[in-house]
Amino acid sequence: MREIDLHVHTTVSDGTCTPREAVRRASELGLRAMAITDHDTIGGHAEAMSAGMDYGVEIVPGIEVSTRYGVAVHILGYYLQELIPLLAGIINDRDRRNEKIAALMEADGLPVHYEDMKRRFGEAIGRPHFGRVLVELGLADSVSDAFARFLSRDRRYFVPRRIVDLDTSVEAIVQSGGVPVLAHPFQYKMKDAELRELIKRCMDHGLRGMECRYSGYDARQVRYLESLAEEYGLLKTGGSDFHGDNKPLISLGTGIRGELDVPYEWLERLHEEAEKLHKK
Ligand code: AMP
Ligand code: ZN
Ligand code: FE
Ligand code: FE
Repeated sequence: MREIDLHVHTTVSDGTCTPREAVRRASELGLRAMAITDHDTIGGHAEAMSAGMDYGVEIVPGIEVSTRYGVAVHILGYYLQELIPLLAGIINDRDRRNEKIAALMEADGLPVHYEDMKRRFGEAIGRPHFGRVLVELGLADSVSDAFARFLSRDRRYFVPRRIVDLDTSVEAIVQSGGVPVLAHPFQYKMKDAELRELIKRCMDHGLRGMECRYSGYDARQVRYLESLAEEYGLLKTGGSDFHGDNKPLISLGTGIRGELDVPYEWLERLHEEAEKLHKK
């Protein structure tokens, strides 16, 4: 029986399950706890917490922030108490950028209305949502085709958004009362030495944990990450990065081939760390 999943996206960002629906699925799976980690927003927490009471699933409030460090490094934050203005500002920057993308599309005569998109897709809208709209309008075959044709850098509808740098993002999570955790370390395609450099850099700014178990990571990769976490004195976390139908291969709680299995004990350590931080 699986115990927890600490990396879940909902309709508040780019997942396809509402927070309540994600909690219901977690309870069906028999999960004891689940974290909501939407991109750049904590807008799903209240609904998830209320559903968690109804379904008997412990809800961990979280967030996932994309940061700039050569490659885009993702930092998870757990048990944030409130977002400091810098983090809250990310969603506003996104909004302004998205309005510009929608305006470019409208200027080309496409029936794209950003207010409608917000009603439909939630508050953390990104280029993947524009990709879906382009697919629906018959202008692309798939979301990745829409990126290749319209949304990638140098394409017609690309508008950059401000990305907060790595150091500042880790610090901002701490200042928001959250425990910062390095997400999915293998996604950055780094060699051992580079990953160690990244870990040390993050730790200098307050990193407390590393995501050691993740959808698609095999037993050898997990052993490597766990030994790194132990070596650096970092907490271990794990989660699926469930996005519902937007990443159909990934299942809540269990990953891609059932490889994911995250012990409740890891959450206890994480929670203790948050309590320590909140007492300061
Ligand atoms: P945004 O933060 O709104 O600029 O969108 C960035 C997100 O778009 C990333 O997190 C990826 O999930 C997604 N993305 C970036 N490039 C591609 C691509 N070529 N195909 C599909 N999704 C992509
Ligand atoms: Zn996502
Ligand atoms: Fe991520
Ligand atoms: Fe994620």
